[in-house]
Amino acid sequence: MTDTDGTAGLDRRLADALERLGHGMRSLAQRTAREHGLSPLQQQVVLALAKHTQARGEVAALAAEFDVSTPTMSDAVTALERKELVVRSPGTDGRRRTLALTGTGEEVARGLSSWDDPLTTALAGISEQDKAVALHTLLRAIADLQRAGVVSVTRMCTTCRFFGRDEHPEPDAPHHCHLLHIPLPLTGLRTDCPEHEPVDAPARRKRG
Ligand code: SF4
Repeated sequence: MTDTDGTAGLDRRLADALERLGHGMRSLAQRTAREHGLSPLQQQVVLALAKHTQARGEVAALAAEFDVSTPTMSDAVTALERKELVVRSPGTDGRRRTLALTGTGEEVARGLSSWDDPLTTALAGISEQDKAVALHTLLRAIADLQRAGVVSVTRMCTTCRFFGRDEHPEPDAPHHCHLLHIPLPLTGLRTDCPEHEPVDAPARRKRG
């Protein structure tokens, strides 16, 4: 086997492993959603609204985040309203469209928060250094997939306009956040940052 073949083989095996992981996580999500009387998409909406509601409080934003059509997301939200887990309130323009969890919805979100415990338990046995490299590698791959149009909305450092790649000599903290004005250690790269702004977003804040 040549070096090139070896690299291609490694890429293939990594892709296979990620596909397998994704399959396992989808099965896990289906099981926990069923236990709470939800569809997997409804479960994703409840968990999403439990975090950074402001950025996700509209059907269209949720549809973009979870790569489904607006009518599909609207159906999921309507079902959650019927289950009294979500309410729509008037938005700033007076239309009924801002979404939030009800008290019962927040309770369900707390019950769902440990849905991926089997994965986090498996990861707990891996060294911090290996996990930092894995996180960095995955975020780079996701950023490439977003540029290729495969992944839509992310709130990760590598897809953020404030992200400065390789600006520091330290191998453990090579990147920089130009909003927070801090070096970003590999272990501190964010996957769901409330301050995230996409690379093509109009400048709304001063960049440091
Ligand atoms: S604003 Fe958030 S997502 Fe963007 S680079 Fe800074 S820490 Fe990362």
